[in-house]
Amino acid sequence: MSFDINNLLRENIKKLVPYSSARDEFKGEARVFLDANENSLGSPLTKWYNRYPDPLQWKIKEKLSAIKGIPPQHIFLGNGSDECIDILYRAFCNPGKDNVIICPPTYGMYEVSAHINDIEIRRAPLLDDFQLNLAHLETLVDAHTKIIWLCSPNNPTGNALHREDIETVLNNFDGLVVIDEAYINFSRHRSFIPDLQDYPNLVVMQTLSKAWGLAGLRLGMAFASEAIIEVYNKVKPPYNIGQATQDLVLKALDEVGQVNDMIKLLVQERTGLETALKKLPVVEKVYQSDANFLLVKTIDARGIYQHLLDKGIVVRDRSKVELCEGCLRITVGTEKENRDLIENIQSFGRK
Ligand SMILES: *Cc1c(COP(=O)(O)O)cnc(C)c1O
Repeated sequence: MSFDINNLLRENIKKLVPYSSARDEFKGEARVFLDANENSLGSPLTKWYNRYPDPLQWKIKEKLSAIKGIPPQHIFLGNGSDECIDILYRAFCNPGKDNVIICPPTYGMYEVSAHINDIEIRRAPLLDDFQLNLAHLETLVDAHTKIIWLCSPNNPTGNALHREDIETVLNNFDGLVVIDEAYINFSRHRSFIPDLQDYPNLVVMQTLSKAWGLAGLRLGMAFASEAIIEVYNKVKPPYNIGQATQDLVLKALDEVGQVNDMIKLLVQERTGLETALKKLPVVEKVYQSDANFLLVKTIDARGIYQHLLDKGIVVRDRSKVELCEGCLRITVGTEKENRDLIENIQSFGRK
């Protein structure tokens, strides 16, 4: 394998002179700030919201660095994972020319973002056990393949991909390998963050939207080599993470203990929900999950979905998705919500 980021980047990005903000140009201590055309009088909110935020969010990165065990220069923060995904397309993939590979069924944004950027999508569907089809994947790669998207634990199937399979991809592909670890905190499997040392072509994505319970704040993370993070920082909008989000995230990151308690509880509830679902006659199979949701094969996905909706309970109908025929994707709720769900699936069975 010979990974060279310069062979991968778009020419316009290689040549790009990034926007230099007032906050970039002056970083020292000062008494009076007249460099950024902010409102010098203040704001209707707490005072400092009249100021532009730190473009590179160093305080958050310092805290994340301690939590994740990786230096701050290896971290990029995006407005949700969506931004972490989109920037990779814009930086590395030439519209109408390059392609990327996805392994469906998987998260929809890899494909939507490709379409927005006019990038060809190639598909190597997962095998029946929802693991990678390496033989097929290999046949799809050509000189224009820039990214292979892997999601582990995968959405909507819930399982983690085999570590050795991911390593095979990392070792044999010269482009970027992105591992989306949105659900890693609910998994028995290790993150690939420590493996960044060994793989210059690896990007690991995580998010505060799931285990951290902060979907409303929009904070996605990408972990990668300094060279890849530099590209991210060059292409991103200068102030992509607002001050309000930065303030709240900084506070939340002090509560690792509380988050770990929630993770433990949710994993416990997942086991309980799995057991209860397996007893229901309308349920054919509950797939093993490393995430905070269960993929559930039923005798009538559409019918159960509609029945639950009539009772005010919304789940995700995935029955039209390849390899997910008859399946609902159900997020693990509170103990009470899970009981409510089970009772209402039972009442469907009795109709
Ligand atoms: C939920 C989810 C995300 C999170 O996206 P955000 O934009 O960070 O909220 C990312 N990847 C996968 C696979 C997900 O299911």
